[in-house]
Amino acid sequence: MDRRGILFVISGPSGVGKGTIREELLKNVNNLNLSVSATTRSPREGEVDGRDYYYVSKDKFQQMADEQQFLEYAHVYNNMYGTPRPYVVEKLEQGQDVLLEIDIQGAMQIKKTMPDAVYIFIKPPSIDELVSRLCGRGKDTQESIERRLVACQSELLQVVYYDYVVVNDDLNDAVRDVQSIIQAERCRIKYYNLKG
Ligand code: 5GP
Repeated sequence: MDRRGILFVISGPSGVGKGTIREELLKNVNNLNLSVSATTRSPREGEVDGRDYYYVSKDKFQQMADEQQFLEYAHVYNNMYGTPRPYVVEKLEQGQDVLLEIDIQGAMQIKKTMPDAVYIFIKPPSIDELVSRLCGRGKDTQESIERRLVACQSELLQVVYYDYVVVNDDLNDAVRDVQSIIQAERCRIKYYNLKG
Protein backbone atom coordinates (compact mmCIF):
# COMPACT_ATOMS: atom_id res chain seq x y z
CA MET A 1 0.00 0.00 0.00
CA ASP A 2 1.36 3.38 -0.95
CA ARG A 3 1.46 6.04 1.67
CA ARG A 4 2.72 9.58 2.08
CA GLY A 5 6.15 10.18 3.55
CA ILE A 6 6.13 11.29 7.19
CA LEU A 7 8.37 13.94 8.69
CA PHE A 8 9.43 13.09 12.26
CA VAL A 9 10.83 16.03 14.23
CA ILE A 10 12.75 15.19 17.39
CA SER A 11 13.49 18.15 19.56
CA GLY A 12 14.09 19.21 23.15
CA PRO A 13 16.48 21.18 25.35
CA SER A 14 20.23 21.03 24.87
CA GLY A 15 21.85 18.10 26.67
CA VAL A 16 18.67 16.03 26.86
CA GLY A 17 20.16 13.24 24.72
CA LYS A 18 18.45 13.90 21.38
CA GLY A 19 21.62 13.09 19.45
CA THR A 20 22.05 9.70 21.09
CA ILE A 21 18.39 8.86 20.56
CA ARG A 22 18.75 9.84 16.89
CA GLU A 23 21.75 7.51 16.48
CA GLU A 24 19.87 4.59 18.04
CA LEU A 25 16.82 5.20 15.86
CA LEU A 26 18.91 5.19 12.71
CA LYS A 27 20.35 1.81 13.73
CA ASN A 28 17.00 0.27 14.68
CA VAL A 29 14.30 1.72 12.45
CA ASN A 30 14.06 0.79 8.77
CA ASN A 31 13.53 3.32 6.01
CA LEU A 32 14.18 6.39 8.10
CA ASN A 33 16.19 9.07 6.30
CA LEU A 34 18.17 11.50 8.42
CA SER A 35 18.24 15.09 7.25
CA VAL A 36 21.81 16.37 7.68
CA SER A 37 21.83 19.98 8.86
CA ALA A 38 24.11 22.79 7.79
CA THR A 39 26.01 24.61 10.53
CA THR A 40 28.53 27.39 10.94
CA ARG A 41 30.16 25.64 13.92
CA SER A 42 33.47 23.83 13.46
CA PRO A 43 33.51 20.03 13.37
CA ARG A 44 34.24 18.31 16.67
CA GLU A 45 36.74 15.50 16.81
CA GLY A 46 35.44 12.49 14.94
CA GLU A 47 32.69 14.37 13.11
CA VAL A 48 32.54 14.05 9.34
CA ASP A 49 31.37 16.66 6.84
CA GLY A 50 28.22 15.47 5.08
CA ARG A 51 27.50 12.80 7.68
CA ASP A 52 27.16 14.75 10.94
CA TYR A 53 26.66 18.20 9.43
CA TYR A 54 27.48 20.23 6.36
CA TYR A 55 30.06 22.63 7.78
CA VAL A 56 29.73 25.97 6.02
CA SER A 57 31.07 29.51 6.52
CA LYS A 58 28.85 32.26 7.92
CA ASP A 59 28.70 33.87 4.47
CA LYS A 60 27.68 30.64 2.79
CA PHE A 61 25.04 30.01 5.47
CA GLN A 62 23.62 33.50 4.98
CA GLN A 63 23.57 33.01 1.22
CA MET A 64 21.65 29.73 1.64
CA ALA A 65 19.20 31.47 3.98
CA ASP A 66 18.72 34.36 1.52
CA GLU A 67 18.05 31.86 -1.26
CA GLN A 68 15.34 30.18 0.88
CA GLN A 69 17.31 26.93 0.88
CA PHE A 70 16.37 26.14 4.49
CA LEU A 71 13.13 24.71 5.81
CA GLU A 72 14.09 26.41 9.06
CA TYR A 73 17.19 27.85 10.60
CA ALA A 74 18.11 29.11 14.02
CA HIS A 75 20.85 30.73 16.00
CA VAL A 76 21.79 28.16 18.64
CA TYR A 77 24.47 29.10 21.18
CA ASN A 78 26.65 31.32 18.96
CA ASN A 79 26.27 29.25 15.81
CA MET A 80 23.76 28.96 13.01
CA TYR A 81 22.04 25.67 12.23
CA GLY A 82 19.63 24.99 9.38
CA THR A 83 17.69 22.19 7.72
CA PRO A 84 18.34 22.10 3.96
CA ARG A 85 14.96 22.09 2.23
CA PRO A 86 15.62 20.07 -1.00
CA TYR A 87 16.51 16.76 0.68
CA VAL A 88 13.46 16.76 2.97
CA VAL A 89 11.03 17.76 0.24
CA GLU A 90 12.42 15.21 -2.21
CA LYS A 91 12.25 12.29 0.24
CA LEU A 92 8.72 13.16 1.39
CA GLU A 93 7.57 13.45 -2.22
CA GLN A 94 8.98 9.97 -2.84
CA GLY A 95 6.82 8.66 0.03
CA GLN A 96 9.84 8.18 2.30
CA ASP A 97 10.08 9.13 5.96
CA VAL A 98 12.52 11.75 7.19
CA LEU A 99 13.97 12.35 10.65
CA LEU A 100 15.03 15.78 11.88
CA GLU A 101 16.85 16.31 15.15
CA ILE A 102 16.79 20.04 15.76
CA ASP A 103 16.39 22.60 18.51
CA ILE A 104 13.02 23.88 19.73
CA GLN A 105 13.10 27.22 17.86
CA GLY A 106 13.62 25.30 14.60
CA ALA A 107 10.86 22.81 15.35
CA MET A 108 8.42 25.63 16.05
CA GLN A 109 9.33 27.31 12.74
CA ILE A 110 8.68 24.11 10.79
CA LYS A 111 5.39 23.62 12.58
CA LYS A 112 4.08 26.82 10.97
CA THR A 113 4.58 25.49 7.44
CA MET A 114 4.35 21.73 8.06
CA PRO A 115 1.70 21.21 10.75
CA ASP A 116 1.27 17.61 9.54
CA ALA A 117 4.73 16.52 10.66
CA VAL A 118 5.05 14.47 13.87
CA TYR A 119 6.57 16.51 16.69
CA ILE A 120 8.29 14.57 19.48
CA PHE A 121 9.58 16.44 22.54
CA ILE A 122 12.42 14.80 24.45
CA LYS A 123 12.29 15.89 28.08
CA PRO A 124 14.95 15.54 30.78
CA PRO A 125 13.77 13.65 33.89
CA SER A 126 14.67 16.74 35.95
CA ILE A 127 16.70 19.94 35.78
CA ASP A 128 19.24 18.40 38.19
CA GLU A 129 19.76 15.50 35.83
CA LEU A 130 20.19 17.88 32.89
CA VAL A 131 22.86 19.82 34.81
CA SER A 132 24.78 16.65 35.52
CA ARG A 133 24.55 15.57 31.86
CA LEU A 134 25.70 18.94 30.55
CA CYS A 135 28.61 18.91 33.00
CA GLY A 136 29.38 15.26 32.31
CA ARG A 137 29.63 15.50 28.52
CA GLY A 138 32.55 17.89 28.94
CA LYS A 139 31.97 19.92 25.80
CA ASP A 140 30.49 23.03 27.41
CA THR A 141 32.04 25.77 29.53
CA GLN A 142 30.51 26.78 32.86
CA GLU A 143 29.12 29.92 31.20
CA SER A 144 27.60 27.93 28.33
CA ILE A 145 26.02 25.44 30.78
CA GLU A 146 24.42 28.31 32.68
CA ARG A 147 23.11 29.82 29.44
CA ARG A 148 21.66 26.48 28.36
CA LEU A 149 19.90 26.01 31.70
CA VAL A 150 18.29 29.45 31.54
CA ALA A 151 17.08 28.67 28.00
CA CYS A 152 15.85 25.27 29.15
CA GLN A 153 13.39 26.75 31.68
CA SER A 154 11.40 28.47 28.93
CA GLU A 155 11.98 25.69 26.39
CA LEU A 156 10.24 23.18 28.64
CA LEU A 157 7.05 25.24 28.37
CA GLN A 158 6.99 24.66 24.60
CA VAL A 159 6.08 21.01 25.12
CA VAL A 160 2.39 21.90 24.69
CA TYR A 161 2.96 22.49 20.96
CA TYR A 162 4.22 18.95 20.38
CA ASP A 163 2.34 15.74 19.59
CA TYR A 164 4.33 13.46 21.90
CA VAL A 165 6.55 13.77 24.94
CA VAL A 166 9.21 11.21 25.83
CA VAL A 167 11.14 11.47 29.10
CA ASN A 168 14.76 10.47 28.59
CA ASP A 169 15.43 8.91 31.97
CA ASP A 170 16.69 5.58 30.70
CA LEU A 171 18.06 5.72 27.13
CA ASN A 172 16.72 2.30 26.08
CA ASP A 173 13.23 3.14 27.32
CA ALA A 174 13.28 6.51 25.54
CA VAL A 175 14.44 4.94 22.26
CA ARG A 176 11.78 2.26 22.57
CA ASP A 177 9.09 4.91 23.13
CA VAL A 178 10.16 6.94 20.09
CA GLN A 179 10.31 3.77 17.99
CA SER A 180 6.78 2.91 19.06
CA ILE A 181 5.60 6.37 18.09
CA ILE A 182 7.18 5.99 14.66
CA GLN A 183 5.69 2.53 14.11
CA ALA A 184 2.22 3.65 15.22
CA GLU A 185 2.31 6.78 13.08
CA ARG A 186 3.29 4.68 10.07
CA CYS A 187 0.06 2.70 10.48
CA ARG A 188 -2.23 5.72 10.55
CA ILE A 189 -4.91 5.65 7.87
CA LYS A 190 -4.51 9.34 7.12
CA TYR A 191 -1.16 8.73 5.41
CA TYR A 192 -2.63 6.17 3.01
CA ASN A 193 -4.35 6.92 -0.23
CA LEU A 194 -7.38 4.70 0.35
CA LYS A 195 -10.76 4.78 -1.30
CA GLY A 196 -13.66 3.54 0.84
P1 5GP B 1 25.49 20.48 18.41
O1 5GP B 1 26.33 21.68 18.02
O2 5GP B 1 25.73 20.05 19.82
O3 5GP B 1 25.62 19.36 17.40
O4 5GP B 1 23.96 20.92 18.33
C1 5GP B 1 23.50 22.02 19.05
C2 5GP B 1 21.99 22.11 18.93
O5 5GP B 1 21.61 22.44 17.59
C3 5GP B 1 21.24 20.81 19.26
O6 5GP B 1 20.16 21.16 20.13
C4 5GP B 1 20.71 20.34 17.92
O7 5GP B 1 19.49 19.62 18.05
C5 5GP B 1 20.50 21.66 17.22
N1 5GP B 1 20.44 21.51 15.76
C6 5GP B 1 21.15 20.68 14.98
N2 5GP B 1 20.82 20.85 13.69
C7 5GP B 1 19.86 21.81 13.66
C8 5GP B 1 19.09 22.41 12.60
O8 5GP B 1 19.22 22.12 11.42
N3 5GP B 1 18.22 23.38 12.97
C9 5GP B 1 18.04 23.77 14.27
N4 5GP B 1 17.15 24.70 14.51
N5 5GP B 1 18.74 23.21 15.27
C10 5GP B 1 19.64 22.26 14.98
